Amino acid sequence: KKIVVAIDGYSSCGKSTTAKIVAKELHYAYIDTGAMYRAVTLYFLDHYIDLTNPKKINQALSEIHITFERNAKTQRNEVFLNGLNVEDEIRKMYISNKVSEVSVIPEVRHCLVKQQQKMGKKRGVVMDGRDIGTTVFPDAEVKVFMTADVYTRAKRRQEELLEKGEMVPIDEIIQNLQKRDHIDSTRKESPLMQAPDARLLDTTFITIDEQVDFVLEQVAA
Ligand code: C5P
Repeated sequence: KKIVVAIDGYSSCGKSTTAKIVAKELHYAYIDTGAMYRAVTLYFLDHYIDLTNPKKINQALSEIHITFERNAKTQRNEVFLNGLNVEDEIRKMYISNKVSEVSVIPEVRHCLVKQQQKMGKKRGVVMDGRDIGTTVFPDAEVKVFMTADVYTRAKRRQEELLEKGEMVPIDEIIQNLQKRDHIDSTRKESPLMQAPDARLLDTTFITIDEQVDFVLEQVAA
């Protein structure tokens, strides 16, 4: 029987790395909900959307179409915004610096949560984000909440950015992670928090293989 695997937690704890491998192992779809909030942020920035104007926000949301498509070359799911591949653009620092401000907007959350629920309706998905186990799929069969020491997270993020050619000082990354975690966990609408029935996983001192095994053990249980 196909289930929903919800992976939530703080920024840069290895959620997407873990989720991708788990999805592959289970032959499930992987849905990166952070990519959706990032794509909306990119659109809002490109179109100078006033974040305090709900009417303009709803108008913009109605013009946004987000899809995930498989890249045959990299064998990876990449995110498309209105038909344009934005996978690389949305990972850049200027998007990370703005995304949490966009993610507090109730209209944005309602719109994306609805789409995410549709994507997982048939189950057989691994979804990662901040509110999957609490709001998007409160009935997910497996829920994992990931955390890690902030310095370790920043180091990992720094390496990822460097691989893509963006050199960012560690202090700036730490600041960004802490700011996002703060905004994400204190917002009114579906804040980042551990669901009561989610298993906590601290990834500070463990390998990716161990993270994957932890989730797969929950699935098998
Ligand atoms: O997962 P990622 O770090 O790419 O997410 C970027 C941002 O998107 C988060 O910091 C958070 O503000 C927002 N987000 C969210 N709810 C989700 C996924 C991401 O609010 N389910």
